[in-house]
Amino acid sequence: MRKPIIAGNWKMNNTIKQGESLVSDILGKDLSRDVEVVICVPFTFLDRASKLVTGTQIKLGAQNMHWEEKGAYTGEISPVMLNEIKVEYVIIGHSERRQYFNETDETVNKKIKSALTYNLTPIVCVGESLEERENGKYKELIESQVTKAFEGITKEDAVKTVIAYEPIWAIGTGKTASSEQAEEICALIRSILEKLYDADTSQKIRVLYGGSVKPDNIKELMNMENIDGALVGGASLKANDFVQLVNYKL
Ligand code: PEP
Repeated sequence: MRKPIIAGNWKMNNTIKQGESLVSDILGKDLSRDVEVVICVPFTFLDRASKLVTGTQIKLGAQNMHWEEKGAYTGEISPVMLNEIKVEYVIIGHSERRQYFNETDETVNKKIKSALTYNLTPIVCVGESLEERENGKYKELIESQVTKAFEGITKEDAVKTVIAYEPIWAIGTGKTASSEQAEEICALIRSILEKLYDADTSQKIRVLYGGSVKPDNIKELMNMENIDGALVGGASLKANDFVQLVNYKL
């Protein structure tokens, strides 16, 4: 049984004060115990957020990290620094990082390995652009992204990861992939994992969908066999919406 995850990606939103208020609003509501709840907040809020969520159901995630432990990497944050403030998850290879910050399949692979070394759960993002979807090459692209991301990673480590399928054309656009489109690629990702590892391993890895997930489409998405949760941008910034996503079964 794969436990569902609802993970919020706050992106570059919320000051510490705003973050405190959002976390307190979320914690003020009942959250389904059957779901793993994660918030991936800006670096500046991580330390404070860590204190606020300790002892609650909410788990903390970062939105990026460097693969090295320390050194001359101006502006970067290391996995050791994330460990120090009890961060448990880290988003790796979000399309915005690939698009604006030159993140490549190779750096994604290094970051996943490093996250696993430091006991952080990587949420590995893959997904195609609109152009790639329209030219029909998107399945090859997903296969290439997943294969390169997991290069050199053992199956014992692979099962500790989470993958998020996020079609770029559906992120922040209000254009959700239909549940059938999302399921098709999440199932494809599982079959790629089966090829890379084996059936048992592929059945253990959680595959999320991300791209304009909202309270009115979450149920349909979660009904799909290979969708184990959602990575949520916009709707994670509103306590009511986020809690409705967490409570999608109710
Ligand atoms: C995301 O940033 O990972 C995302 C899916 O954003 P949104 O939900 O706003 O489309």
